[in-house]
Amino acid sequence: MANTLASIITIGDELLIGQTIDTNSAKIAQMLNAIGIDVIRRVAVGDNKAAIVKALNEEIVAADIVLITGGLGPTADDITKPLLCDYFGGKLVVDEKVLAHVKGIFEKRKRPFLERNLKQAEVPDVCTVLHNRVGTAPGMLFEKNDKLIISMPGVPFEMEAIMQDEVVPLLTAKYKSSDVIVHRTTITAGEGESFIAEQIQDIENSLPAHIGLAYLPSLGGVKLRLTGKAHDLALLTTEVEGFQQQLATRLEKIVIALEDKPMEVLLGELFTAKGVSVALAESCTGGYIGHLLTQVSGSSDYFKGSAVCYANEAKESVLGVNSNTIGEYGAVSEQTVIEMALGAKRIMNSNIAFAISGVLSAGGEDYRVPVGTVWTAVTDGENTKTKELRFYHDRIRNKESAAQMGMLMIWRFLNNKLK
Ligand code: AMP
Ligand code: MG
Repeated sequence: MANTLASIITIGDELLIGQTIDTNSAKIAQMLNAIGIDVIRRVAVGDNKAAIVKALNEEIVAADIVLITGGLGPTADDITKPLLCDYFGGKLVVDEKVLAHVKGIFEKRKRPFLERNLKQAEVPDVCTVLHNRVGTAPGMLFEKNDKLIISMPGVPFEMEAIMQDEVVPLLTAKYKSSDVIVHRTTITAGEGESFIAEQIQDIENSLPAHIGLAYLPSLGGVKLRLTGKAHDLALLTTEVEGFQQQLATRLEKIVIALEDKPMEVLLGELFTAKGVSVALAESCTGGYIGHLLTQVSGSSDYFKGSAVCYANEAKESVLGVNSNTIGEYGAVSEQTVIEMALGAKRIMNSNIAFAISGVLSAGGEDYRVPVGTVWTAVTDGENTKTKELRFYHDRIRNKESAAQMGMLMIWRFLNNKLK
């Protein structure tokens, strides 16, 4: 059987002026991928009738399923519902179930129910209502010449709830003989794409036609994503994981994880597994590494804190860095970050500590090192490792990279992989 093809139309002026980033398409594509449906196109259009109709005409021809988000709110700029109603030749009628649900939401939130809110309970009489558990705008399903057209609100968590509760089960049932898709991502750090490609050339060449490999470079390193597509989920999973294992063995020195997780999550798992607590002394990253580590729930089990010491004075008075050290070697130096790390460990009584100090962009003080230089140190009190890093981009990107490299350094230290 031929693959089921889907197309996504996202509606909203905010998407076209760059005010809102279209995360809905990405989420929908992920969810469809998981059930073996290929997304072949994504189209974004403004809140404009002609543009929406044109997109609909084209996508209905190109795909079996067209998924639409946006334009379902109760205000005048939301035109999707009446437009779809016209398009499929129906008329708007109040749906009693939706009305009860919408009224219930208003009561719970203790908000007055306005005349215009009644509109939210109206649906075209030619659609099947897709229940919106978390909001007032229902999803809608239309069928035309064996094609499915699905309309959902633009609010991401409402779209996701409708996808999960209604759309995915419906599509799974209707297209159950489709292939399944399996992704496995391997995270590496420390080498570039071309180097990796050289190392794994023979493995890459041995991949069967139904398994592909993608290189995804990011600030911290390169992710390698294997994607397989076949009928049998269990068989395919074994096969894809077999190739992932081959890659991981070949690239052993630079592999960080066999799952696509952010570094702060991987570090959290590592701290927990080793029963290690951590303290930070952050100068140039201004607390950003502390912020990232505390994005993870349960971080209070291992994260002691971050001393953000930007001025030399703060490095001395808070962390106990010797003023002679800064005077002699500078604030961005190996000697200074060692003392910062030891100071953070002492004042926060942690098992290990990490310190970072650098110049992220030009301007300001008279530093002794080139712009982009960052010094880092990690210590467990007995053993201290340092590393000098160099970044070449703008301030924000350098800060982002410094934080990622800093976390990588902690990860390597705990895995005894730091040279
Ligand atoms: P709407 O259903 O058009 O009223 O959209 C409501 C809100 O959802 C908008 O203000 C956006 O913030 C958000 N939104 C709409 N479309 C998208 C999209 N494609 N990706 C992410 N957020 C979106
Ligand atoms: Mg809108």
